[in-house]
Amino acid sequence: MKSNEKMLAAMIYGIKDLRVEEVSRPEVKHGEVLVKVKAATTCGTDLKIFQRGYVEGVIKLPTVFGHEWAGEVVETGEDVSWPKVGMRVRAGNSAPCMRCRMCQQGSFNLCEDMMWLWGAYAEYIKIPARMVLVNTQEIPTHVSFEEAAITEPLACVLRGAEKANIQLGQSVAIIGAGPIGLLHLLVAKKMGAEKIIMTDLVEERLEFARQLGADETVNAQHEDAVEKTKELTQHYGADVVIEAIGQPSTWEQALKMVRKGGTVLEFGGCPPNTEIRVSTELLHYGDVTIIGAFHTTPGHFKKALNLIASGTINVQPLITRKTSLTKIKDAFETLTTSKRDVKIAINP
Ligand SMILES: [Zn+2]
Ligand SMILES: [Zn+2]
Repeated sequence: MKSNEKMLAAMIYGIKDLRVEEVSRPEVKHGEVLVKVKAATTCGTDLKIFQRGYVEGVIKLPTVFGHEWAGEVVETGEDVSWPKVGMRVRAGNSAPCMRCRMCQQGSFNLCEDMMWLWGAYAEYIKIPARMVLVNTQEIPTHVSFEEAAITEPLACVLRGAEKANIQLGQSVAIIGAGPIGLLHLLVAKKMGAEKIIMTDLVEERLEFARQLGADETVNAQHEDAVEKTKELTQHYGADVVIEAIGQPSTWEQALKMVRKGGTVLEFGGCPPNTEIRVSTELLHYGDVTIIGAFHTTPGHFKKALNLIASGTINVQPLITRKTSLTKIKDAFETLTTSKRDVKIAINP
């Protein structure tokens, strides 16, 4: 492909300053792969970038963004034997180095030299050579590009749920019915949770959670989420509590919802330099396990795509709207105001 070719890409300049511009189409070099993006799904992180104009430590403006995507290979660099041109693939958004101490002990999510890939809200995206090798998968023909794009958040959720070790017959309380909380709901159900309680401040989201299989919902605007969770678990508290918002206040609330001997998964990423208070009695006499979870691994990406492909986890309902790349700003405005939209698929 000639270097002077152009493409459309969404660039974020600042708070709600999102422009679709003509930029140079990436040139493919040794080991790299160029993909025509067929679908990119919106995510909480992207919405934060749109609303706040920044996400600490993640981006410098102006920049391309978007990291959940799937598409079709249009060009491959020298020495790329796989994937082939025309193949439907998804990749990224991370590729561990496989060499550092974290990688060598299997903690790929904590790689000290992690390669990240942003820029899915564009007509084309280039997969770097390392990512072609460690985190690119072919999409089975019966799986839509939109569904395949959701592999990324599902991979993160799977790893968290595995760490929380949800057991058959357990009660699970999930704080937050946004896209991540809803994915936790779908996964916890498959892991055998007997009762899933979801809390949120927005009634429409709770209604959506009930449609997806939540057994009980609590509107924390009108009811005390801790009291109600206790009441719904014979006053013991939930076996597993998952925080899927990312606020210190709800991280602390999660600790009050768990039963003795239970597990709290603090999943949502909080703003930097924040702290929470933990009762020593809760940890000691309560014998509670508190778990953190960051990102995911190539193995979980593969597993997530397989679970979508097999129909085990149906992510289709989470895509509540589709739109074109040129209307991406409207899409993020919609996500800011709409209470019913979960994820919007951008089709360049
Ligand atoms: Zn995401
Ligand atoms: Zn590494």
